[in-house]
Amino acid sequence: MSDPTPRTAVPNLIITEDNKFFFDAAREGRLEIQRCADCGELRHPPGPACPKCRSFNWDTIEASRKATLHSYTVVHHPPDPSLTYPLAVGLVDLPEGTRLVADIEGIEPDELELGMELEVGFGEHAHGEILPRLFRPGGAA
Ligand SMILES: [Zn+2]
Repeated sequence: MSDPTPRTAVPNLIITEDNKFFFDAAREGRLEIQRCADCGELRHPPGPACPKCRSFNWDTIEASRKATLHSYTVVHHPPDPSLTYPLAVGLVDLPEGTRLVADIEGIEPDELELGMELEVGFGEHAHGEILPRLFRPGGAA
């Protein structure tokens, strides 16, 4: 019996009641961020409770998809056939007031500069889900 799971080092995503909205929106090309319904604090990645006031009440906002590169790393290991190397992964500030981690596409690592403007687009994860990716402004898929 063959195993239908792709052989890759990329972990499977775990979708819960607290993060399903994020993946549903990404499939529609929208970046949604979780917001505390009591104090208004934005948080990403999504979770069940507000880290600021501990409320379990939340809703979401649609983010602009604008981003500013706060930090990045260039991943070389583990070698994985589902990934394209060099793989730059960025930590970006969103103007709405939280941060996001995503792969950077279409920009060579030596072209990256902290503070550069980027745009959030979307691309397919190794296991088929649609996830945010970072592009030059105007270059998003
Ligand atoms: Zn709160």
